[in-house]
Amino acid sequence: MKGAVIIDGRALAAALRQRVAAAAARLKEGAGIVPGLATILVGDDPASLSYVRSKACAAVEAGLACFEQHLPADTAEPALVAEVRRLVADERVDAILVQLPLPPQIDADRVIAAIDPAKDVDGFHPLNVGRLWRGRPGLVPCTPQACLRLIRTVRADLAGAEAVVIGRSNIVGKPAAALLLAAGCTVTLVHSQSRDKAAICRRADILVAAAGRARLVTQEWIKPGAIVIDVGINPVIGMDGKRHIVGDVDYAAARAVAGAITPVPGGVGPMTIACVLGNTLLAACRRRGIAEPAL
Ligand code: NAD
Repeated sequence: MKGAVIIDGRALAAALRQRVAAAAARLKEGAGIVPGLATILVGDDPASLSYVRSKACAAVEAGLACFEQHLPADTAEPALVAEVRRLVADERVDAILVQLPLPPQIDADRVIAAIDPAKDVDGFHPLNVGRLWRGRPGLVPCTPQACLRLIRTVRADLAGAEAVVIGRSNIVGKPAAALLLAAGCTVTLVHSQSRDKAAICRRADILVAAAGRARLVTQEWIKPGAIVIDVGINPVIGMDGKRHIVGDVDYAAARAVAGAITPVPGGVGPMTIACVLGNTLLAACRRRGIAEPAL
């Protein structure tokens, strides 16, 4: 059997970043506007630190303004909410990203609710969640948006496709399901309490794995020819005794049966960062009533 098409998230993300950079340059030249992304990191989790740094660097590279905040792990919820409100009032800031997870003393929902929905670059505010499910324009969460962008590079028309999403989190699984539904798929969500997971997944023309379980999806879970999108980022210790990142899919085995597959790393991760930049640009245009570029 011929192997799967490898969906090159790095190259596709680089192309999206270039489109954002070109649109940002036009905005600056035409209207003197520099879209601004503000990031807030609370605490010192190394993975979160690395994600925030990557997003901030990518923003600057694309010609956006970036305002980075790093608060101590013992920051109290009212102090963080006050910081978010300050950014909401700051005219230079078009997009606010609060890196999750937050330390246990902080209720993430209350922090997200303080973000102006027009500046909600992650699309986590209840208003944007509602818009997504109702099919209204809003800011669409970056990781699920990245999944759809990657899927569409190998299959443009998703109408009628059988899609299975593994994971039902508010930041990946549920919004990915909403986007696939809006695209015309028949969508099933598989989660930790689902029975017969392999059998359900094997029905999928499009399989999105977002469980956070290393190599959960084996060859038997995949329908021959399926599009497999691996969202998982799982640290494991390899045979060499070193730390590696693997996805939720047993990549080597899945490649032999899938029609197309994203690698980890180099798949959904880089595209997620590019989507943060895209959302920052869209937020900057929408807030000012400027026609938004097609990205
Ligand atoms: P989460 O822990 O909030 O949710 C995991 C979901 O998977 C839950 O709904 C749970 O029911 C389900 N699940 C857990 N074990 C399962 C099993 N054995 N079978 C079926 N379902 C199971 O995680 P999350 O925030 O949604 O992230 C999921 C994964 O995606 C993590 O590895 C995370 O690091 C990664 N992630 C990657 C990106 C990216 O940009 N590539 C962004 C966000 C999250």
